[in-house]
Amino acid sequence: MSQDNKGFRPLTLSEFDTLTHLLSKLLSTQQSPVIIPGEAILGIEAIAAGISAPGRKILNIVTGPYGDIFGKWLERGGAEVIEVKVPFDEVITVEVVTAAIERYNPCALSFVQGEAVTGGTNPTKEMLDIAHRSNLITVADSVSAIGGEPVLMDEWGIDFVAIGAQKALAGPNGISAVGISSRGWEFLASNEHAPRNSILSLLDLRRPHSSSAPLRVPANIPVLEARALIEALTLVEQEGLEVVNHRHQLASTAAIAGITALGLEPWQRKESGYSPLTTTVRIPQSDSNLRINEPIGIVAPGDGELYGKLLRINHFGANANQQSIEQAITTLAELVHQDPANAIAVQRSIWGNEDGR
Ligand SMILES: *Cc1c(COP(=O)(O)O)cnc(C)c1O
Repeated sequence: MSQDNKGFRPLTLSEFDTLTHLLSKLLSTQQSPVIIPGEAILGIEAIAAGISAPGRKILNIVTGPYGDIFGKWLERGGAEVIEVKVPFDEVITVEVVTAAIERYNPCALSFVQGEAVTGGTNPTKEMLDIAHRSNLITVADSVSAIGGEPVLMDEWGIDFVAIGAQKALAGPNGISAVGISSRGWEFLASNEHAPRNSILSLLDLRRPHSSSAPLRVPANIPVLEARALIEALTLVEQEGLEVVNHRHQLASTAAIAGITALGLEPWQRKESGYSPLTTTVRIPQSDSNLRINEPIGIVAPGDGELYGKLLRINHFGANANQQSIEQAITTLAELVHQDPANAIAVQRSIWGNEDGR
């Protein structure tokens, strides 16, 4: 019987190397990212657990629900957490971050780069520049940014960056990665409170050095997810990461143009804060037509506390294209009992001659 069972092939070292290499390129880093054997949220929790310690003061920027929970994980580890929170229809400003660093003198800064839930994007490069002036360790949750906007780990000097493929990269959600700089590794290794012998231990998940022991594929890597991720990242490489970014940017611009033509308002207050991944639509207090309970195509109700306040247009991954935006605009027009023709025409002009499909 077992002789006939050829259904399962373990991940080869060559596949493992390919995946590591693809992830390095994706993050524009010379480092080998840690492959996380689970959803991206596991990598984010592992970062929080690994950097937090009594006596460490960490500035945590909260612009959506993921930042909220990151702060709680930091607190669990004993760090003193300074939370700077904005209303979820805004993103953070560089001025606020600068003032908080001056006032509290933290050792690290953590934030979410792109917010899928609120449709916002934070001024990431600018924040990192400021953090470096004060020599802070920097942590970015870039799960909803990667593929939608640039994430330049080495050039921007990000010490910890969490990514997943299930948003803009149209990949699997069962495996993810954390990029860690040399400084980041030191910050972990010097923390006696960082987990060890644990699924939250980045130190244990670190790619083994070939010099110290024969290199083997870690036993905890989900094999099928790893193969699916290689496939997704190979497709991204073929299309070109910048082209993928641009496709998301166009989708956002087209969605904003379309909803505005319908007389609807973006949820995010400032144009510079619009996320390339999702566009959020403000639900006017008087308009119950927009209060949907279930997603209609890529138009979805707000999550958690944002339910009834906004609608999300999830134009990411395979849906960052003209056809999906047109469908979403048509859906919204139907909900508010309008003819979609003008809004469709307006958003179409954004795509111009570019092939957005
Ligand atoms: C989607 C997302 C994650 C990952 O959450 P999962 O539950 O792993 O999908 C993390 N952070 C942000 C900002 C996200 O948008």
